[in-house]
Amino acid sequence: MIIMEEISELVRISNEIGELKALVQAGGGNSSVKTSGGEMVIKASGFTFAEMTEISGFTKLDHEQINDFFENYKAVVDANENEAAYNRVLKQAMLNHTMPKPSMEAGMHVFLDRVVVHTHPVMANILNCMKGGEKIARDLFSHMSPELMWVDYVNPGFSLAKEINSSVNSYVRKNGVKPEVIFLKNHGIIVSGKDSKRCVQLTISINQKIFEYLKGNFGLEEFPEPQLELKDGLFLNNNGVAKQFVQKLEGNKHLLSKFLIPDDAIYCSKFLIADSLSDAEDKIAFSRQGVAFPWGEKKSIKVNEMLVAKLYILDALKKIGDVEFLKEEDVNYILNMESEKYRQNLDSG
Ligand SMILES: [Zn+2]
Repeated sequence: MIIMEEISELVRISNEIGELKALVQAGGGNSSVKTSGGEMVIKASGFTFAEMTEISGFTKLDHEQINDFFENYKAVVDANENEAAYNRVLKQAMLNHTMPKPSMEAGMHVFLDRVVVHTHPVMANILNCMKGGEKIARDLFSHMSPELMWVDYVNPGFSLAKEINSSVNSYVRKNGVKPEVIFLKNHGIIVSGKDSKRCVQLTISINQKIFEYLKGNFGLEEFPEPQLELKDGLFLNNNGVAKQFVQKLEGNKHLLSKFLIPDDAIYCSKFLIADSLSDAEDKIAFSRQGVAFPWGEKKSIKVNEMLVAKLYILDALKKIGDVEFLKEEDVNYILNMESEKYRQNLDSG
């Protein structure tokens, strides 16, 4: 069966990306491969890239059904209603209902080329989360052909899929081909094409190029591997960017109630400033001794990955430019999204 090949291809590229914490953190990002028979295999919601195997962590969709929905659906004022309609279509488009739910970002994959790799890289997100980041990205990749596509912030789910649909249509009218590289403001990047190896290599090389530029011009240091140690029953991070952050906790703590990307809001919105790290109950605890995570190992690792990426980007932007956070109304919307609740449940399970 042809689909087995696409599954192997999807798992191979996803596992490769999943090793690189500078590209994805926690359960963020997603990947897909379309078959010639009209099916799309896509990472399932709640799984990390690294967790995917040839028998779990993905699902199969009829992408034409999703495409038809976006061709015909008239968006209404109530964003929740649009989201509910979109989630119903995602469910209907599942080709095997015993498989897990697709990523809530599945919609945007439909409008792109055969292979799609969507990541939340720290380097690209430094540009995506700063004022004037688009100009730097465009200058840095001006040689790229076809040109990179930039998408201003919209919430993930229905809105992002709809936005990618219309932006890709106008991009194709202008350039005659679909975009290969898309920057998503306050979110991440998408690389899409016919060849899966090229999508992975391009994802890596784009971020390497941004790093070299920022290192050369602003002395940016390398992204540190997120580390945790188990101490007195708590997972603790007291080195690198976390240590620097808590050393100036008073001055820095206002940054914790602002969020850079949707996953930052999802993973890092529950926190407390504690005198003692053992106070933490279902929250990230910050104290002068470090940052503690009160959950089991799996969830603590995920939340730490997102937090380290956040603190690294914030630290980088101190030298590079002005931060642009998500708007409060968008953060509230994200935290109330039904499909994200589903993902959080999986994470805590
Ligand atoms: Zn994403």
